[in-house]
This record gives sequence, structure tokens and C-alpha cells, in this order.
Amino acid sequence: MRILLVEDEAKVSSFIARGLAAERFAVDVAPDGPSGLDLANTYHYDLIMLDLMLPGMEGTEVLRRIRTKNSTVPVLILTAKDAVADKINNFEAGADDYLTKPFAFAELLVRIKALLRRGPVTRSSTVRVEDLELDRLSQQVKRAGKRIELTSKEYALLEYLMSNASRVLSRTMIIEHVWDQSFDGITNIVDVYVRHLRDKVDDGHERKLIRTVRGVGYTISSGEES
Ligand code: CA
Repeated sequence: MRILLVEDEAKVSSFIARGLAAERFAVDVAPDGPSGLDLANTYHYDLIMLDLMLPGMEGTEVLRRIRTKNSTVPVLILTAKDAVADKINNFEAGADDYLTKPFAFAELLVRIKALLRRGPVTRSSTVRVEDLELDRLSQQVKRAGKRIELTSKEYALLEYLMSNASRVLSRTMIIEHVWDQSFDGITNIVDVYVRHLRDKVDDGHERKLIRTVRGVGYTISSGEES
């Protein structure tokens, strides 16, 4: 595991680097914003720790620039700035965690391990299956660039199918995910909603994306008809 630490206080960075080396992490230290950004763009790191008040370039700006090229590397902000506004600002810029100084090394270590356990995270809010596109943030759905209006249940069903594209989902899985546990309505509810979705998503298109897998359930995929 290789970690980049961008920190201008030599005492802090050597303390962290020594502690992490003892935990068998490989640590590169950058003492200012520009060299930190340079290293982040050059090497593959499993995690980046970033101070905010840095010479040359503010940590938040370094973070923004890292995110334009690398959306998946976990970034932990390590700073004396403890205002809620700073935290929000940096999480919005793409941070994954935020720890304020002074901190206990033991806490830093468990946070690092938790981030590494999670691994690279997909940050794109858009899922695609062929020319069908769903944006989880705006909750907009488009096929071939044309907007499709869905009810909230239709949207939830499509989102579930698209998040698991090419995977066959049983009716039970769909009910448990899209409806809640108290659902005890008609048993063919899934088929009814899939039919509605097909009308809106597949009708008028040569390629049918929503597929029935006989005796099992449904899937959405760009593959051949099953
Ligand atoms: Ca600093």
C-alpha cells in the first residue's frame, strides 16, 4: 500500500511517515501543494492525505485538481481547520474523510484502514446501459438523448436494474429492494412495473434492453436476447 502525504510541517509529516512505515505502508511526503499534485498525478497511490494550509497551493485546490484526473483515490484531509464550513467545502470538493489536528495516531490509522478497506469508489452519478442513461443526482433518465418521465417506483426499479446491469434479479430481490418490507400487495406487481418500464424505455427502440429470464426474473443488459 502506497500513501502520499502532503504536509508542510516537517515535524508532523515525519511523525506520520514513521508511524505508517512501522505499519508497513510506503509513504511519500510532499512539503507543498504543487509538488503534492505532481506526485498525485505521477504515481498510483492507494490513499492521499492532504493538509489544507499549504505553501504554493491550498489543499482544497490540490484536491479539486486531483479529482479532475483521478476520481477514485481515497483522500483524507488532515488539518487544523475545524470549522464545519471547511469540512463541507472539502467533502464537496471530493474528500472522503476529514481529521482535525491535533489527532491521535491510533485514530488516523483506523481511519486510513477504513478507507483502504472500502477501496476505490465510483463517483460518477451516471449509470449507462447502451444508449440508456440514468443520473442518480438529478434522477433524470434519457434514452438516445431523449428524456423519459418515470414515476418514483418506475425510477427505483430502473435504478436497481441498471445498478446491477447484466445480473439477473429475481422478483423477490426486486420487491425487497424497490418496495419495503411491509409490502404484501399483489404478487405480480414486479411484472406490472416492468411492463410499464418497457413501454417507456424500450418501446420504439430496435434494441430491447430489459429482458425476461424465464423462471428467474429480470435483467437489463446490452447483450444478446436470452
Ligand atoms: Ca500546513
